[in-house]
Amino acid sequence: MSYLPEQNRYKEMSYNRCGKSGLKLPAISLGLWHNFGYADNFDNAGNMIKEAFNCGITHFDLANNYGPPPGSAEENFGRILKNDFHGYRDEMIISTKAGYTMWQGPYGDWGSKKYLVASLDQSLKRMNLDYVDIFYHHRPDPDTPLEETIAALDLIVRQGKALYVGISNYTHLEAKKASDLFKRTGTPCTIHQPSYSMFNRWIENGLLDTLDEEGIGCIVFSPLHKGILTNRYLNGIPADSRASGHSVFLRKEDITKAIIDKVKRLNEVASNRGQSMAQMALSWTLRDSRITSALIGASKPEQMQECIKALNQPDFTAEELKIIEKILNQQDTTETLMGVRI
Ligand code: NDP
Repeated sequence: MSYLPEQNRYKEMSYNRCGKSGLKLPAISLGLWHNFGYADNFDNAGNMIKEAFNCGITHFDLANNYGPPPGSAEENFGRILKNDFHGYRDEMIISTKAGYTMWQGPYGDWGSKKYLVASLDQSLKRMNLDYVDIFYHHRPDPDTPLEETIAALDLIVRQGKALYVGISNYTHLEAKKASDLFKRTGTPCTIHQPSYSMFNRWIENGLLDTLDEEGIGCIVFSPLHKGILTNRYLNGIPADSRASGHSVFLRKEDITKAIIDKVKRLNEVASNRGQSMAQMALSWTLRDSRITSALIGASKPEQMQECIKALNQPDFTAEELKIIEKILNQQDTTETLMGVRI
């Protein structure tokens, strides 16, 4: 039987305006980088999209190369939409990107107009869509003139193949230059997608200020630091975890004792707040109103249910933020504050 979404799916989620645009994004969005390729369980992938939608997660983030193999996350997502989401396209914000290696030869990578236009056409076919809501340039290209990349994004909007466009992994100087070029085209830069978590704070050094000044929204990827900022690795490395799998971006060696010791101390702060570690990590990334959405990944539907409960928790007190700051900045300590080793 076809899936019927929860009637009350918009109750728990909050929706934030994306920069100065008319677009609102859920405070928590779902990315399909891992666990949605041909290598993964298709039924589980479908159940995760359904659970996300039931939780009020309206935004699904893809890229041409997500899989494995590359392209298969878009194809699977297209199948899930066709099987279960007929009639719900207008309640969804679907994004994709191009910028990393997708096919052989000089036209399957980086930021030329040739690559970006062809790649989006391929993505639309794989997902069986007429348009995406957001199309991103996935990473800065040191060789293609930025003018050409931005002209390609402007063209894509004018062709109606994307409603909004954005950039990802650009530094604050690159983002400012891109924003100025966008203004000349008349197509706004709606959104930037950088990485950000308690363990990865580079956007605090200029990028957030630039995006705020330019009226660009900010959706942060890997807010759980690929799963490290959760209860996943507190007692070892589970066999079904990302670190145990084939990801080259999170290996068993990355789960060090020093990192887990910090997570354990952070987890104590989370418990005192009545949150799980994952919930506190999300509340923390969303504490800055310049952040439009936290873009999580998941391997099980239950993880999403847990994550969205982050939105029910009260704001951080000054004392809690101070303790967290101390834990993040210190190597090792025996000092305690409010019963937590900082
Ligand atoms: P996260 O930091 O949210 O990590 C997700 C992982 O955390 C899950 O796969 C799961 O690990 C674990 N997890 C999630 N919820 C819970 C929970 N409640 N309890 C315990 N563990 C939990 O983000 P990702 O690294 O997956 O990135 C998210 C998205 O960001 C991607 O899908 C993609 O859309 C985007 N992205 C964009 C990039 C870019 O260059 N623009 C680069 C990277 C990502 P496990 O699988 O072990 O269960």
